[in-house]
Amino acid sequence: MKIGKKIFITSFIILICVPQIVWALLYLTSRDLYESLNAGPDEKRNAQALVFDDIGDVGNVLSAYVDDHAPFRGALITLCQKIETGSENIYIDAVSALTGSGSDSQMSVDLDALDALGGTGTSSGSEDAGGTQAQADLDYKLVETVFPTCTEEGYERYVCDETGDSYVTPIPANGHDGTLIEVSESSYTTWGYEKYECSVCGRIYYENIVPKLVDTSYLAPRTSGGSTIFGRFDWLFFMGNDSLSYYKGTNLLSEEELADYAARVQRLQELCDERGIELYFMFIPNKEQVYSEYMPSYEVETEHKRVEVLTDYLRENTDATVLYPLAELRAGDFYHQTYSRYDTHWNLWGGFIGVQLLYNAMGRETIDIADAAEMAYPFPSERNDLILLGGLDATTFPEDTDYLVDYKPEVLFFLDSYDPVAHFTSTSENEEYFVLVGDSFLEMLRPYITRDYMHTLYLRRTNEYACREDILNADILVVETVERYDGQVYESMEALIDILENGDP
Ligand SMILES: [Zn+2]
Repeated sequence: MKIGKKIFITSFIILICVPQIVWALLYLTSRDLYESLNAGPDEKRNAQALVFDDIGDVGNVLSAYVDDHAPFRGALITLCQKIETGSENIYIDAVSALTGSGSDSQMSVDLDALDALGGTGTSSGSEDAGGTQAQADLDYKLVETVFPTCTEEGYERYVCDETGDSYVTPIPANGHDGTLIEVSESSYTTWGYEKYECSVCGRIYYENIVPKLVDTSYLAPRTSGGSTIFGRFDWLFFMGNDSLSYYKGTNLLSEEELADYAARVQRLQELCDERGIELYFMFIPNKEQVYSEYMPSYEVETEHKRVEVLTDYLRENTDATVLYPLAELRAGDFYHQTYSRYDTHWNLWGGFIGVQLLYNAMGRETIDIADAAEMAYPFPSERNDLILLGGLDATTFPEDTDYLVDYKPEVLFFLDSYDPVAHFTSTSENEEYFVLVGDSFLEMLRPYITRDYMHTLYLRRTNEYACREDILNADILVVETVERYDGQVYESMEALIDILENGDP
């Protein structure tokens, strides 16, 4: 026999026998130490005895007996638990680095974001009684009383018979007299609120609003087809067009790029000013930003991401009006979902919020968002580009719902041409020519804007030169883009600038 084999067999016998021998010696010499090393920590059960009630159980009984009487078993169990806890802690540390501290379990949302559009309709009358010119002058007589309503204050007008002088005393608004009609609890997919209806004016309003809860547990990113990301609660997200870099905040523009972008925006603004064209920029957030609470666990480097930095920069360094309604679309989810669950796009409720914010920037009349939410009707959404891109089976997903606001139904409109250049004529009396250059997100703006202008033109980028005359004749020019196409807008602006600089023959 070779010497190597001898060493191997000897080592093996020592390994098997020595613990048993030491264990037996310990049992005979030091019973206390033996007991302390035998029992596992907090172990309650009795060790298996060598009792054979049934011949069929012999194997099991023997196996359990050996398990329970292994040398140093208590010490070994303690050691294993220490190792296991240690590796568990390493895992927990790694996961919490991805998911944050795990203590933030409520969706962070700016509930005041929609205030410009009427907020959540919680107003309950004016508290300011205004001037207190309560002259007790007997010469003044009450000549007029306007009673307050739920939301508007009234007044009493007093006039002096001799001098004709007058003054008014305001009467505070009454506030709504609401009846509780619905209570919702906050969950991972629903907001908490109390819904009231005013018995005087019929107004619907909400109180005690609680944002959705956020599931901060670790969810490993899983994708399909190279474009589709599986999120929480059946939500799907997009990873094409470098969307994940926009989400993680890893593709910020350099100072130089920001300055270049701003220079182009400013040049376009100046050309529009010269021609009396109102210019607006609308950057629509990627779905991954608006519904980040349903995203799987990715490491996000900064909350101040590429397009937010860009739009902030443009507002500071140019004269342009620049919209990036991230906070509004997150808050707007209180009423209805603002993006399609299985689609990269916002839905018709998101589009309505976009239109209202645009009108607000334009100084146009807007609709109170709580009223608009009541006017919206649900219907099954057929938007599912993320299911198609992922090569998934649509029948395995629950139905998604879209919400169309029944906006100005009295206005009729007609379609003269369709994509990539869509021209609409409507029975609106507004003769200003409205031209929008954008991408597929404009489809959710069309049902509303079209009813506010007699002539509207929606063109996809790269068709600018084909619409040269329209751009030159526009009264209002809106440059729309989804966040991930900010680079395409940079290109498109070059064409728009060229058209406006060289437009006139
Ligand atoms: Zn009321």
